[in-house]
Parts: sequence; C-alpha cells; structure tokens
Amino acid sequence: MSGQDLDAVIVGAGFSGLYMLHKLRGLGFSARVIEAADDVGGTWYWNRYPGARCDIESCDYSYSFDEDLQQEWQWSERYASQPEILRYLQHVAERFDLRRDITFETRVERAQWDEAAQLWTVSTDSDEQLTARFCIMGTGCLSSFNTPDIPGLADFAGDTYTTGQWPHEGVDFTGKKVVMIGTGSSSIQSTPIIAQQAERLTILQRTPNYVVPGHNYPMPDDEANKVKQSYAELRDAAQESAVGSGRALPRTPHLATSLDEQTFLSDMERRWAVGGLVGFVGAYADLNMDPAAANRVGEFFADKIRARVSDPEVAEKLIPHDHYVTTKRLCVDTGYYESFNRDNVDLVDLRTTPIETIVADGVRVGDTLIEADALVLATGFDAMTGSLNRIDIRGTKGMSLADKWNEGASSLLGLMSHGFPNLFTITGPGSPSVLTNMVTSIEQHVDYIAGVMVYLRDQDGVQIEAEQDVEDAWMAHNNTVAQTTTYMSANSWYIGANIPGKPRVFLPYIGGYHAYRAICQDIAQNGYCGFLIDGAARPCEVNFDAHVESFTPEELMVA
Ligand code: FAD
Ligand code: NAP
Repeated sequence: MSGQDLDAVIVGAGFSGLYMLHKLRGLGFSARVIEAADDVGGTWYWNRYPGARCDIESCDYSYSFDEDLQQEWQWSERYASQPEILRYLQHVAERFDLRRDITFETRVERAQWDEAAQLWTVSTDSDEQLTARFCIMGTGCLSSFNTPDIPGLADFAGDTYTTGQWPHEGVDFTGKKVVMIGTGSSSIQSTPIIAQQAERLTILQRTPNYVVPGHNYPMPDDEANKVKQSYAELRDAAQESAVGSGRALPRTPHLATSLDEQTFLSDMERRWAVGGLVGFVGAYADLNMDPAAANRVGEFFADKIRARVSDPEVAEKLIPHDHYVTTKRLCVDTGYYESFNRDNVDLVDLRTTPIETIVADGVRVGDTLIEADALVLATGFDAMTGSLNRIDIRGTKGMSLADKWNEGASSLLGLMSHGFPNLFTITGPGSPSVLTNMVTSIEQHVDYIAGVMVYLRDQDGVQIEAEQDVEDAWMAHNNTVAQTTTYMSANSWYIGANIPGKPRVFLPYIGGYHAYRAICQDIAQNGYCGFLIDGAARPCEVNFDAHVESFTPEELMVA
C-alpha cells in the first residue's frame, strides 16, 4: 500500500460500481467510487423520461449476490419503472453503507498508469488526484448520450429534452406541440405517455424497429412470494442461459424455417402472449443466423403491427424493412402502436423526407415546417466505448486507450486491454454485456475481477494485463462468431453505426453468456492464462470455441 491512496478506484455508481465497491470491501481491499451524478443509480439516475422501465423482468434484472436483499425487496410490477429501480439501488447503497466511499458530482477526466510506481493516478474535474493499484471502469455501456448533429438544433427557441438526461422535476407537456426524434426503446416507452399529455406529438422516424409487447402488470403478492421461494433456481437458470436470464423462454427445438405454418404461428403466439425481450431473441436456433428464418419471424411482427395500427399507410411505415429481426435491439412496448391511432399523433418517415433543419419554432422536414414548443431527442448513445473514450486513459508508455481503439475496440474478454495493466472494464466491449440481462453480466464481471485481484494478492503479484496474442485471438474469435450471424448486416449501435465516424466493429460478444462464463472459468482454472502476471506469460491452451454452440449452416440443417 506504500505510496498509494487506495487499492482500487472505481468509476461509476450504477449497478456495476455499487456491487464492485461492496465486493472489494468484503475482501479487505480499500476502494473509492467516483460518480459524476449527485446520487447512485447510473442509467436509472439519468434516464427519467416518462415510461422508462426495464424490459427484462425485475426479479431477473436485479442483484443476486445477497440472499437477504432479494428476499426483503419486493418489486411492485413485472417490469419495474425507473423510479422503483432507482429506489432499489438507493436502498442497496444504504443497506450496505456504500455512500461513505462514493464521491459524487465528480467526473473522472484522466487515468494514467505510472510504470515505475505500478499505480494508476486518477484525476477528476475537482482537481483531485487519487492513486490506486487498480482502476475499475463501471462507466456503463449506454451512458454517453448521442446528441445528433442536426443543423439548427441550437436555434430551437422551445425546450429541448434528451431522454438520457431528463429533468429531475419531470416535464408536463400539456397543451404543447412536441416533436420527438428517434424510434428506439426510449422513444417507444415514452411515446404513449407524451401522446396522452401533448396537444400534438409528431414522431420523426428514421428506422422502424421490431417491437414485442411487455404485458406489464402489477406484481401480485402470491407471484412475488413464489419468485422469492424460487430465486435459487431462477438465478441458476440465468447462469446457464445464453442471455443471462432465468426467465428466457426455452428455445423451440426446431428451426423456424422447418416448422409448418400452423405450428410456427402457434409457437410465435405463445411467445407473444408471454411477451418480453428474452422470449424472442433465442426462440429458434436459426433465427439470428438465417435470413429466411429472420424474415419469417419478421413477417409475424409485421402482421401484429397491421393488426394494431388502424391506418394501413401508417402501419406500413412502422414495419421494419432494412434489417433482420434482433439485429437491432428488440424493443418492448406498452401501447406504442396504439398511440398512432390517436388524432393528436403523427408519424413522419425521414427516409422519404429527411430533416432539412431545425428552426426557432419547429423542425423543417422537406418543405414542411412542423411547429414545436418542445423537442425530445431520443437519439441513443455512443454505446460501449463512448464513456471510456471520454476519459483520457493512458497506459504503458503513455499510450492512449482511445488511440489504441481508433480502428475498433480490442480487449481480452471485454475485461482488460494489453498496454493497460490493472485497468478493468466492467461489461467492456468484447463481453456479452448488452446482449444479455445486464445485471447478470455485471455480477459475473465484478466477481471475476475480484477473483483476479485476490489471486494476484495471494501470489504477492502486483501487476496483471492482457497478453497481446491472446487478446488478438479473443478478438478474432469474437469476429468469427459475429460473422456467422445476421447481426453484422444491420446499421446498429452494436456495430457503432449510429455514431458518425465510429469504427465498424461488432462490440459485444455474441457467443452467449453461458459460453462466455465457461471460457472465463477455464481461464481462471488455468491460473488466469492469457493474462501476463508481473510480465510473465504462461502457456494458454484454452479453446474459445469449445463452449460456443456451433452455428454452421450444415449443423443448423440437422438441429
Ligand atoms: P450505468 O448504469 O450506465 O452507470 C455508469 C455510471 O458511471 C453513471 O452513473 C455515470 O454518470 C458514471 N460515469 C461515467 N463516466 C464517468 C466519469 N468519467 N466520471 C464519473 N462518473 C462517470 N439493461 C438490461 O439488461 N435490461 C434493461 O431492461 C435495461 N434497460 C435500460 C433502459 C435504459 C433507458 C438504458 C439507457 C439502458 C438500459 N439497460 C438495460 C442497460 C443498462 O445501462 C444496464 O442494465 C445497467 O444499468 C448498467 O449499469 P452500469 O453500472 O454498468 O452503468
Ligand atoms: P437507440 O435505440 O439508439 O435509438 C435512437 C433513435 O434515434 C433511433 O431511432 C435512431 O435512428 C434515431 N436517431 C439517431 N440519430 C438521429 C438523427 N440524426 N436523425 C434522426 N434520427 C436519429 O437509443 P435508445 O432508444 O435510447 O435505446 C438505446 C438502448 O438503451 C436500447 O437499445 C436498449 O439497449 C437500452 N434501452 C432499454 C430500454 C428498455 O426498454 N428497458 C429503454 C431505453 C433504452 P436509426 O435507428 O436510424 O439510427
């Protein structure tokens, strides 16, 4: 500990940072969290737009690490709303007395590795400098808001709101003409509520998305009690699942393309009746691999839109046409499509008529001025790398992480990147993260990072970093697995396509949570081979392909 303030600096006080702090404390490490916001919560602190809620069931989308915590907390709805998830995280902070080691309203601007001292120096916007053996980024995959570069945005005279930085006091749109830009999950959740308030709501749509119903409901006591009794099985099931969810509907044991029409429709209707994200993403082995399977499922979605939207022209505009189902994040709705049956809601297709400019009193689309008192930007995030690249992270020989990632993010297991010793990224690029129930992935990463730190301590080691060759092999494996899917064909944020100039690299690992976890375990059991400990490399025989389901077309045909 000589010459250092702490064992670890943790950046961010969302699900990741809170659990990381608790875990390290329990293992006898000293740690401090630095958080830009004035309270805990992360995503659930910032995204306070109307209708914000999780789209993975709350019993699943919650910490599993403490039995008493999961027994004492009662979720009030199937999918908790943002205020309830925030209250939950505040409760966690209080229950485990976490706030005393969190510095709020402070942004980390720079993190620099000191090779001689083998310490990180972390500098903040309040001119504080902390030194620590480890620096752990819990900065979030979806925490750098994307403000679109639309001409005239600054000239708008009304109020501009961004979903990812919504005012704490809320917004009342009563009597207002509102224009919303974007039709991703945030827009799809907020549209029905804004539509009920506003005098007029105009949605500017560039790309329609695939949307499944949430079928949210208040959680009856008997169901809540049943969940509490079966938490052990639910969490075990999450560990064995490709999406880290104990509630994922089992995969249909046939290819989507091989089912007769009646069987296919009844299977899809069964999934539709349950609703929610995790029932669809892995429904069929060929869904994410074979365009014909995706088209068949996509057509089912299209018919559902036609059935829910009264105006056939509007319905056709809302049907996705340029990407396969699941290749952009599926959205989950409560009353989204019905909003377009209201007299005060309009849909504008920006593919037909793009935005010309924003002016003081509205948005000019083609030759038409859409008048607006308020503008809502639901335009997404610089996902997975945005918040990391906004920090000036300097590793060995002053190398910048942003420079290293200039051609695309590169890591070993999404946890570490060569040249940046003792720097961990929770749910970093190259890990399953956003393709899973994030809380499961966060807990797995936190436990793993803590395991690495304990291993190092037990060996009297000081420094660990990814070995470049093994990192390259991991990235090649990531790419190979992604190439077998339809995901690579979509202009999604998974691939950086939503941010002008961002390198096109498939960012999350798509081999499945269960496979990823098994790979991590193999590496740990082999003494963390693939990681250099105090500069020493060890042979690493771990086969990344061994746990990943094979998806070659030939194998799919016999599935
Ligand atoms: P975050 O919650 O993003 O927290 C990161 C924190 O780091 C933030 O508080 C930020 O202020 C802080 N920070 C970042 N940079 C700095 C810096 N330089 N200095 C200081 N502080 C910094 N996932 C699911 O699995 N299911 C869902 O239903 C789901 N719903 C979502 C809904 C919305 C609206 C959004 C935006 C995301 C959703 N996600 C969902 C993903 C969600 O981000 C994760 O589930 C999870 O909350 C991430 O937790 P985290 O702690 O890793 O990151
Ligand atoms: P998003 O899915 O990236 O959607 C952003 C929307 O803005 C897209 O429709 C995009 O169009 C549009 N857009 C961006 N720039 C534009 C421009 N210059 N002009 C016109 N349109 C523009 O962002 P999000 O809705 O905030 O969701 C991000 C992720 O957060 C989700 O995928 C999900 O993982 C998570 N999330 C989850 C929930 C939930 O239900 N629990 C809710 C919100 C968010 P293009 O598609 O054409 O780029």
